[in-house]
Amino acid sequence: MNTANQSYDPNNIFARILRKEIPCKTVYECDHVLAFHDINPIAPVHVLVIPKGPYVSLTDLSARGSDAELAALLRAVGIIARHLGLDETGYRFLANNGADAHQEVPHLHIHLFGGRALGPMLSRKEPA
Ligand code: AMP
Repeated sequence: MNTANQSYDPNNIFARILRKEIPCKTVYECDHVLAFHDINPIAPVHVLVIPKGPYVSLTDLSARGSDAELAALLRAVGIIARHLGLDETGYRFLANNGADAHQEVPHLHIHLFGGRALGPMLSRKEPA
């Protein structure tokens, strides 16, 4: 997936959540951002923070998005972490971009993880 050139698919699952065609458990919302619990969490806290605009990836948002959208996305991560008490114990946020990162949903999303010791950043093993 070359997310720099990929056109936005308006029927991806997060676009449908934004249109309220599919429910989600919202944890935060502002003009530019929606955040909700991941449907298949891999940590006690696993929240997805997404821009409301139609961006495939961070590459895409950084090329086409406004400063306000970029700032709102990052600010939301901090607001949610504080709101959920994660800044006390620590947390991790990451965004998978493209094929090597195993991005499954082609709408930019930041994963916010916390609630347990998360281990090292990346496995040193090659995936099988
Ligand atoms: P990624 O591999 O970075 O594209 O992550 C996609 C994430 O979206 C996975 O963690 C999924 O569990 C999550 N996901 C897929 N569908 C939904 C949904 N309907 N509601 C909430 N999270 C979802």
